[in-house]
Amino acid sequence: MNSKPFKFLVLGALLVCAVNFADATETNPPKQGDTIVNSENLSQKQQSMALIASFTATGDRMNLKVALNDGLNAGLSINEIKEILVQMYAYTGFPRSLNALDAFMTTLEERKQKGIKDRAGKAPLLLPKDKSKLELGMQIQTELIGAPVKGAIYDFAPTIDIFLKEHLFGDIFGRGILDYQSREIATIAALASLDGVESQLRGHLRIGQNVGLTPAQEEQILALVKRDDGKAIFPKGEKAAADYFTGTAWVNHLASRDETGNFSVDDVIFEAGSRNHWHTHPTGQTLLVTEGEGWYQEWGKAARKIVKGDTVVIPANVKHWHGAAAKRGMTHIAITGFRDGTAVTWLEPVTDAQYSNLEK
Ligand code: MN
Repeated sequence: MNSKPFKFLVLGALLVCAVNFADATETNPPKQGDTIVNSENLSQKQQSMALIASFTATGDRMNLKVALNDGLNAGLSINEIKEILVQMYAYTGFPRSLNALDAFMTTLEERKQKGIKDRAGKAPLLLPKDKSKLELGMQIQTELIGAPVKGAIYDFAPTIDIFLKEHLFGDIFGRGILDYQSREIATIAALASLDGVESQLRGHLRIGQNVGLTPAQEEQILALVKRDDGKAIFPKGEKAAADYFTGTAWVNHLASRDETGNFSVDDVIFEAGSRNHWHTHPTGQTLLVTEGEGWYQEWGKAARKIVKGDTVVIPANVKHWHGAAAKRGMTHIAITGFRDGTAVTWLEPVTDAQYSNLEK
């Protein structure tokens, strides 16, 4: 970053919506995480807001729909979620925001067909008649940041200052429905999911604390939205057979058993919530987790959380299953031994009750 000071400063201040110029040039690391705060966790609603904003930012429609359903189930109203998705256009652009609204529309329709009645929630506030948008926006911006916002970037391009104040802080933040803390949760989650906006993220981590988030709660937002940004090592193979898998998974057969080894090698991509049925292997199996987060469970034992970099050695004839976490996908390479030409014996599915108990 230091090799491109000018670009850094401009980017630092441009979308800032919040960080003043002096903050963006600061060389000290942000003051966060240096105190252990005995804070309560984010509520389910707040966690959902973070995930909704994050998947909107990354354009991950499949995971966004999971997060939207979770958010509604946790008690977010339709208007609260709409408000997050609308606000996101200021931070992630109209294309992401419109795609997310489309995913939300579809999600609501699907829920309606299942007979789920979702709550509309509060309507937006009308902008006050006694002050201009600029005045309202300046007032809200100053309240969030703790001081009036000035900076060379705004002298250089006054239009962006007007747009930030009138439109982002006036029109959008002035709409009510969500309090400032909720709006900051969504913004922090979105920025933490994007590349190249570190200075804006630092600025919003400070604003978050101005509106009552604790450092520990902010750490929780960052942990929640952190995910691998690398592309899959191996391409997706065939869709895994519904006879043996719940949800969507993909199997890429990498190597067959032959004279060099009595085992086969497969890359398996489990989308969030998917898993295989209970099964056994006659000579066991080794799993190398290359991506994401999931579960491995042996019959009669507690499930083991597995993440990228983990190895699982499964003994012969032990009944087990493996799969993704409810809200994150998982990819593993499976090395499976054969006996008498057989590598696996499939048993019953892992029920939704068994699976949903894992996270508790
Ligand atoms: Mn297995």
